[in-house]
This record gives sequence, structure tokens and C-alpha cells, in this order.
Amino acid sequence: MRSVPMITAGELVKLVGDYNPRVDSVLLRDAYQYSREMHHGQYRRSGEDYFTHPVAVALILAEQKLDDATIATALLHDTIEDTCANYGTIEAKFGGEIARLVDGVTKLTQLDLGGTEVRQAENFRKLFMAMSEDLRVILVKLSDRLHNMRTIKALEPEKRKKKAVETMEIYAPLAGRMGMHWMREELEDIAFEVTSPDVRESIMHRFDILKAEAEDMINRITSDMQKVLEEAGIEAQVIGREKKPYSIWRKMQEKNIGFARLSDIYGFRVITGSVNDCYAILGEIHRQWRAVPGRFKDYISQPKSNGYRSIHTTVLGRAAKRVEMQIRTRDMHEVAESGVAAHWSYRDGVKAENPYSADSTLWLSSLRGRFDEESHEDFLEAVKLEMYADKVFCFTPKGDVVKLPQGATLIDFAYAIHTRIGHACVGAKVDGMLVPLWTQIKNGQSVEVITAEGQTPQEVWLSIAKTGKARSAIKRSLKDLDRSRYIKLGRALARSAFEQIGKRASDRALDTAARTLGLEDRYELMVRMGRGELYADSILNAVYPDISPKEGSEVSWANAVIGLETDQRFERARCCQPLPGERIVGIMFRGKGVVIHAIDCDALVEYENQPERWVDIYWHGGKHPASYAVTLEMTIGNDSGVLGRICTLIGERKANISDLKIVDRKPDFYRLEMDVEFRDVEQMHALISLLDIESNVAEVARSRDPKRVAGSEISHA
Ligand code: MN
Repeated sequence: MRSVPMITAGELVKLVGDYNPRVDSVLLRDAYQYSREMHHGQYRRSGEDYFTHPVAVALILAEQKLDDATIATALLHDTIEDTCANYGTIEAKFGGEIARLVDGVTKLTQLDLGGTEVRQAENFRKLFMAMSEDLRVILVKLSDRLHNMRTIKALEPEKRKKKAVETMEIYAPLAGRMGMHWMREELEDIAFEVTSPDVRESIMHRFDILKAEAEDMINRITSDMQKVLEEAGIEAQVIGREKKPYSIWRKMQEKNIGFARLSDIYGFRVITGSVNDCYAILGEIHRQWRAVPGRFKDYISQPKSNGYRSIHTTVLGRAAKRVEMQIRTRDMHEVAESGVAAHWSYRDGVKAENPYSADSTLWLSSLRGRFDEESHEDFLEAVKLEMYADKVFCFTPKGDVVKLPQGATLIDFAYAIHTRIGHACVGAKVDGMLVPLWTQIKNGQSVEVITAEGQTPQEVWLSIAKTGKARSAIKRSLKDLDRSRYIKLGRALARSAFEQIGKRASDRALDTAARTLGLEDRYELMVRMGRGELYADSILNAVYPDISPKEGSEVSWANAVIGLETDQRFERARCCQPLPGERIVGIMFRGKGVVIHAIDCDALVEYENQPERWVDIYWHGGKHPASYAVTLEMTIGNDSGVLGRICTLIGERKANISDLKIVDRKPDFYRLEMDVEFRDVEQMHALISLLDIESNVAEVARSRDPKRVAGSEISHA
């Protein structure tokens, strides 16, 4: 069972002595011996001696080069909680400092950090109170949790889950807040494996595939960078690393992006001697590679409160792959690695005097000053919120706390309270003021939802709601409401298709078609037709296999959109370029007709308060000609023949290229904007997937730009 043989007191003293020559070996030996005696006869879940645990915790802290008192506290951290030792006995044997530290850890252990939000807030308050006496208490507690997580497989599944959630919600963010990023990552990754083993597994799997494709990417990028720095005559060390599955996953969630971007898998650090060199390196890197806009951050001139300093940037490196870089000095690097712990750690035998290490007293007093006099809610706002930087906390009129993701709107809030309230909401009061439903919630606001009888979810809500809970509830409800509308539409489509071949779309004919196509009944058939999932041709074919549909039975521009008045012209919005098969909505323009947007187009926000201009419309469910242009953005490697292959691929998929622009050209890649004409959204997705597989295509995506003005495709119905 035991994987690592436990080290002896002598070995531990030697380990600490290596970084701290003035180690108090008597203290450490005594603490080791005392803990061993007190825990004698106790065992861990795994069957090991209990004593192996405090020793392992002490080792984690010794790796961080911490002082004697912290190491001794680690050895003793469970004696008050689990043995007959108490504050008095520890104080008598090891002195007041260590007794206070051990007592602090014990108090944290006794906190139940699970439970409701409000209760958690109270516990956080205690946590920070304890912390404010001595941050080393938290260092020991975090190391305790880390060892327990490393050995979590010994617990029953139920308990494992609870610990993992607690770790994810409290300890990992706490480690991050203290600047101990390695610990945050390890805690998160173990917890992730417990809570979502399948997600983690699939990320690892795709990770392996990408690694095989981008063979030796870390080494190649590292040597590219080293060459640039050498030529510039700057001395620096380049370190590349793979990110942990959980941080990749979190990024994918936050930014809603695919897995394929290498920048989200690899990270590079450039470590150098001086601040001047950091900026010089930044200059060289930006001279050599194109910087990705919006990714540059200067934490050297504006350090984080826990002392973190670094320059962050992302550039397009080899074959246009994104490469994320952090540039910092050695001192900054040390603080970045060990965070607040740097304050107590040793270097070359003396207490480290790192100019950048956060002054823990100041850092703490800034936190403490805030929560000492503040109310419960303010405390939540000030402390917990910083730890959950991606979350928004707000309150119901009764004072219950509701936790939502950043950017959540009032719709999300209403659905978070209850699905029924979500369905019926018409507006809300935020801090007593009446505001529209698409308003984003800010931290600490109090929200009262206003409901009305007879209100039902609206399609536009889907573009307003941010949380999965709200979105799925809205979709479910819309589906029920839509069914009757689709049936009507499907029946009309079927009727006209049957008429074209001189037949009648009787209930019997439609039932026959449904049976042949393996559908439940004619209603399901009509719904599918109405939604554009089933084409008229296949229904005719199911009933009259011998009659081939007439030439020209295709949808034309004139009848492409259903729901318009007979003389209404329409045009496709340039911002979202909607395609048949996508849910759409029309916005009326006087003299211009109707502009069609995709239902989730960001530009629709502009018309939010003009409901009278919104028109309910649908694409014709039949087979459209390939005549709807969509702008694709592509980054391709500059190998001979790539462009030719791409054009061939597009031609083979029966799509037309109507325009092609080279936006950017670098020695080893191009960026293109290509207008391609499609029949429907399915055809576009199929093509994008094909291009995505093409190894010389680094990135391909549909371009959506809410700022692109409504355009030129005028037509008449
Ligand atoms: Mn413990």
C-alpha cells in the first residue's frame, strides 16, 4: 500500500538543514517523536500508520523551504484534533508560537466548509480570521489538504466527491489567491479527476492526439525563442510546460472555445535577470511574431496584491499556432511560484529577502481591515468574490445568496430561483430600480423578479440567458410552444409540395410518409418539416417513390423565407450571415423591408426595446440553392498547394467561393477571409469540419461581427 517509505527524523532535519543551516534540529526531532507517540495505534483509511500523514505534510512544506515553526506545526497539526494533546500540552513542550499555529490549523479543520452559501460565507470569515493571525496556518492547512487529496483514492466514493467539491470551491481558489499556483493546479486537477473523470479522460485523450500531431512542439518553440534572444544578446532561460487538464477545461468553459488552440495547452516562461531585460525581451518577441490583440498584460508595472509580477503576452508562432508567454525576473519567478509562502522561505541559508515578496502583514491587514467592520454581504463581496472572480453573487429580497456566472442576466437569476419564476418573469427590480431583463447582474445587488400570469418564455431570451439552467428551461418550453406553430408550417409546406406533383397532402398520405420514414405520426413529420429538418422531396419520395420531383421544385429566393408579408423584401444581416437551417428572426426597417438575423446574433441587443419591429420568420424547409454567402476566417500554413487544396475541397462540397482576401501574410502562414456560398448551415458545418481536419489549416471559423453593417443582398418576395 505504502508508495513512499516514510522518512526518519534525521532525514527530515537534513532536508531542512540543506536550505536552512540554522535549523533547530532539537525542535524538529521532538515534534517528530511527539507526533509519532501521540498518533501511535491510529491508522489511515489506506491502512497506513496515521503518522505517515503529518510527516508527508511536513515534507510538502520543506519542499517550499519553510521555517522550522511551520515544519514543526505540520508534524503536530492533527495532535489536538485527533489525540489527547491540547493547547496547554503543546505550549508547554513547544512554546507559544507553535501552539498557536497548531491550534489555528485545528480550528480550520473543525470548520464545516460545505453547506449553504450563507453558511459558507460565515465560515470564510472564520477562515480569514484564523488566517489573519498567521498565514502559516493556511500554508499548513493547504498542505494538509494537498496530501489528503493525493491519497484520496483510499476514501469511499461518497466522501471522495464531497472532499473534491470542497477542494475545488475553497482550497484551490485559496491557494491561487495566495499565489501558490502549482498547488492550486494540483488540487484542482485531483479534484477534477474525482468530480468529472470522463471529461478529464477525454481531454487527456485529445491532448495526446494533439501532442502527436504537434510533435516536439515545446522544444521547437523553445529553441525558436532562444534563438531570437541570443541574436538580441539577452540572457534568459526559456521554460515550456504543458498545462493541466483542469486549467485547459476551465479556459474552454470560460472562453467558449475549442480545444485545438495550442496556446491553451502549452505555456512558456522566459526568466531573466532584470526588469529592463523583461521589456527588451517583450520587444524582441513582438518584433519576431505577431501579437494576438487583447492578450497583453503588464503585471510588472501593476503587480497583483499577492506580489505577482510578470508580463503576459500571446503571439502567433510557428505555423500560426498561438503561443502564450510569461516574462519575468528570477525574483519575480520565485514569488510567482511560491506566492505568499515566499515570505517565510529560505534561500541560500538565509530568510529570503525577495524584493517582490508580498508583505504578508500589509496584505493581510488590507483583507482584515475590510471584513472587520463589514456586514455579512459586504464581506462576501470583498473576500469570497475575489476568490471566485468568475462568479457573481447577488441576493433575493429575503437575503438569500444566489451564485451566478459572471455576465449572468436577470433571466438567469429568475431561473436560478425557480423554473416557474423564470417562465413567468417580465422584469425585475435591482436594488429597488426597475430594469429590463437583459441587464447583467453585478456583485452584491439585490434582485426582485416581477412575474406576470400568462407570460411565456420568448425566443430572444435564449440570446439573453447565460446559464445552462435557464437556457435549457427556455428551450424546453419553446419547444412545446413551437410544436403547434411548426405543425402549421409543416402542413403548408407539405401541401404545396404535393400540389406541385398534382397530388393532395391528405392525412393518410402524410401518415404513410411518416411510417415509411420511421417517424411516429404525421404530426412529427410536419414538425420536422416546419423546422427544416426534413425536406419535401423526401416526403414525396416516401409516398410516391416512382414520381421524381419536378425540376425547379427547389426553393427560390422569392419563397426562401416564410412569415413575410407578400410584398415585403428581405435581406440577410451582414453581421451574422444566417443560413437556412438556423433559427432566425426578422427586424423591420421602414422602406428597406426586413433584415434577417440569426436568433443568437449579438447585434439584436440594439432592438431589444423595440419589440414591434421583431418579425417571426422561418427559413423555407425545402432544399435551397447554394447562394447564401458566409465569411470564413482561416489561418493556413504557407506550403505550396494549400490554397489549391482548400479550393478543391470547397468545390467538392458543392459550395462556391465568391470572394477571397488575404488579410495577413507572414513567412510561414496566411490569414484569409473567404466568402463561401452555401445551401444551408449543415453544408457549412460539414465544410468547416473538413477544413479543420486539413493539417495545413491552423484555424478556421465562421466570422461573426456585430459591427459589420447590414448589407447589400436585397431581394423581393
Ligand atoms: Mn491532517
